[in-house]
Amino acid sequence: MGEENYTKLYEISELFMENDIDEDSIEDAVIQLLKAFGEEPSRSGLIRTPGRVAQMYKELLVGYRIDPVAMVNDALFEVTYDEMVLVRDIEFYSLCEHHLLPFMGRAHVAYFPRGKVVGLSKIPRIVDLFSRRLQLQERLTRQVADFINELLDPHGVAVVVEGFHLCTMMRGVQKHEARMTTSTMLGAFRTSIATRQEFLDNISRGASPMKF
Ligand SMILES: [Zn+2]
Repeated sequence: MGEENYTKLYEISELFMENDIDEDSIEDAVIQLLKAFGEEPSRSGLIRTPGRVAQMYKELLVGYRIDPVAMVNDALFEVTYDEMVLVRDIEFYSLCEHHLLPFMGRAHVAYFPRGKVVGLSKIPRIVDLFSRRLQLQERLTRQVADFINELLDPHGVAVVVEGFHLCTMMRGVQKHEARMTTSTMLGAFRTSIATRQEFLDNISRGASPMKF
């Protein structure tokens, strides 16, 4: 990859790498929350909760601080292979930015190489990079597609994400809407109905319904 590609990849990745997550402030904020709930933050069951929550957010939001170039740079290969590459049923966990509650499910990612592929194990890592943040499912879908498009310059990229949203499920509003499907189709997947259909057939073949 050339320097100019790096810049674009970092741009698409929307990183906040300049500082570490502020664990102390998270702890303070959790204490404030507990008080606001009417709880007693010093009771034995809660005394270590602020620290645990800070650690948890550090883990759940690690996607802002993964260097995308370091992540994929050793796994790019030149190939003559030009058939569809598909990784389906990639499990992901994210946090909805509207409620800070989890949404999770699976992602299906496909592309048509144009002389370049990325190691298969990196595709789930790319999904992690964008899911371990405060997110919207629509944006997650789009970012994964844009990232692969920029990284590999393929003939096309397709990303379908199926997610269950706890903010909808737990709050009991219209439960049938708790499951959401979003997709981004670029290049050949957008212009060719046959290509798009091949992808959609592939991801629905033998698929079991998601359950939580
Ligand atoms: Zn939400």
